Amino acid sequence: MALVLSPRWSWCAETGLREHPHFVIENGRIAAILNEAPSLDAERIALPQGLLTPGLINLHNHAFSAPLFRGLADDIQPGSLPGHILFSLLMPLGDLVAEIMEPEAIGDAVEMALLECLMTGTTAMLDIWRPQQHEFVPRATALGLRTWSCPYTFTVPNLAMGPEGTPVWQGEDASDASFDFVMKLHAKWHQGPDGLASVGFGPHGPDSNSPELLRRVDRAARELGAIVSVHCAQNPLEVAAVRAAHGKGSVEHLRDCGLLRPGVILGHCFLATDEEIAMVRDADATIACCPLGFARSGKGVPISRFLDSGVRLGIGTDGVTLDMVDELRAAALLAKTQSTNPGAGSAERLLTATTRDSADALGRPDLGRLTPGSRADVVMFDLSAARYQPVWNPLRALLTNGRGSDVHTVVTAGDIRVHGGALVRGDADAIIRRGAAAIERVWAEAARRGAIPAALASQREFA
Ligand SMILES: [Zn+2]
Repeated sequence: MALVLSPRWSWCAETGLREHPHFVIENGRIAAILNEAPSLDAERIALPQGLLTPGLINLHNHAFSAPLFRGLADDIQPGSLPGHILFSLLMPLGDLVAEIMEPEAIGDAVEMALLECLMTGTTAMLDIWRPQQHEFVPRATALGLRTWSCPYTFTVPNLAMGPEGTPVWQGEDASDASFDFVMKLHAKWHQGPDGLASVGFGPHGPDSNSPELLRRVDRAARELGAIVSVHCAQNPLEVAAVRAAHGKGSVEHLRDCGLLRPGVILGHCFLATDEEIAMVRDADATIACCPLGFARSGKGVPISRFLDSGVRLGIGTDGVTLDMVDELRAAALLAKTQSTNPGAGSAERLLTATTRDSADALGRPDLGRLTPGSRADVVMFDLSAARYQPVWNPLRALLTNGRGSDVHTVVTAGDIRVHGGALVRGDADAIIRRGAAAIERVWAEAARRGAIPAALASQREFA
């Protein structure tokens, strides 16, 4: 049966703002946009203060990290970690998970994170994960999320802390094993444009993947038409390691390995120079930036420079928050404070980044738009709460005062996944209970083994 969505407003980057439209959805696509409600046999959702937009696309995420590190990695006091947070907390705890958690329990935690994404308006997500998190794909697909899974490839997968708190990569060469895992996952789960699940490559970074492995990823990704997501210029240790090993910057090194082109999404580029950002732009690659994750560590992502450069930009949550409305507001405020220009990082600019531009980054012009023929991945926010009133411009209202929890309806591939702010199929309360319990068990074991630095462990005074 057809579905008719009748919001008060709609917006997409292609068509701008409209008032009182009616969207007819059939066979997973937007079939028509009408000024009058059509008299066809259809399920109907009308929302008098509704704002319909393309579903939000989270372009760089680690869904499992959100519940795993929630609270642990916040308010870190100087000196309380024995080195960079990535190497002294985030990756060691990830290693412990790989060792002790059953796939089912990892799936439970991932599903809770995915539920949060869907319920706050995300319809599509690029997620980078370790092989042990393979339950990501079926859980996301069952919820109705469109995903690009990009499992890590590594040459050297394990980190030890060096004498001065610097990381030392070590261990057996994992190039073949990690590459083969992605190939197998692709063969098993990749559905292409007509399905919800896509599989790409996630080389961890230019310091942890050899040039040979990066070139191999590039060749395979081109053959398969697969997306590549790679962390780039994300911290000084990586930049220094690449320069020491190859005598050039991270962006240039990736370019020389074939990974600066359409279909490649560079995570963070936090330390990229203006010249490097211009290289990314000119190569038609994409930067995915994650404001809240870096702000948590006391750093401002250079979003003002990204926006000014004209590079294709997407926004991700990096597994810190999972609510894209929060993340977009952080991006907007950073752009304004960095540029001292209140017009920078406008609602329309950032919503364009996280809908149309992110869809283009994924090579999917059939997504991120509310145009006839586009896939029906859409979200309707309810702007009836006091915090929006009165509504002068619904986009600015959403970015300035909005919450992901004000999502009323989520549709992906033409199917209603969230209605009236509630999950349509599945028991949201049970998903949350299972997910939280799975993470509590990891925390308990990590504390027992001393894998949580003492200064952080001591903060859980109520336990
Ligand atoms: Zn990341």
